[in-house]
This record gives sequence, C-alpha cells and structure tokens, in this order.
Amino acid sequence: MNKYQEALDVLYESAWEDTTAVDNSKLKLQELVDKKTPKKPKINHYDNDCIKVVCPNNCGIQLNGLNKDNEIVSFTHEYCPKCGQAIDWSKDE
Ligand SMILES: [Zn+2]
Repeated sequence: MNKYQEALDVLYESAWEDTTAVDNSKLKLQELVDKKTPKKPKINHYDNDCIKVVCPNNCGIQLNGLNKDNEIVSFTHEYCPKCGQAIDWSKDE
C-alpha cells in the first residue's frame, strides 16, 4: 500500500479519534498534491559556461540539456525520476 492510500485510509478511519494521525495524513496528501502540481525546472549555471537543467526539489537529478541559445532542447521527463515532481516545461511568457 503506498503512503497516499495509507494517508487516505487514516483520514477516513480516524478523523474524529486521532488528530495527530489526521495531521500527518494531511501532510502526506499535501506532498502528493505538490508533486502533481508542475514546477519549473531549475537551471544551474556553472563557472565554465556549463548549464544543467535540474529537478526543482534539489534532489540532484539532471533532467535535460540546453542548446547554445540556452533553450531547453528535449522534454524527456514529465516527472522527476527520483522524487516524482511534475515538471513544467512550458516557456516563460
Ligand atoms: Zn526530483
């Protein structure tokens, strides 16, 4: 059983009994909601002009490369393969 199902079950079963369990379940569900809400990838610039597109949650995953005009060139990860964060690849207006 994954932790989100677990959180839902706790909410359903103990809503009026165990407020700590309910609070913890709320946090777990909030984490799920946050991860499903797409975030812009983070773009790290290095001293040697190297640029890496990484997960916005600082989990250390490199998501993609850029071309020489600093445009994101491919969109292989809809979700971060490590933490599951949804990635928003849309360009800024
Ligand atoms: Zn991540």
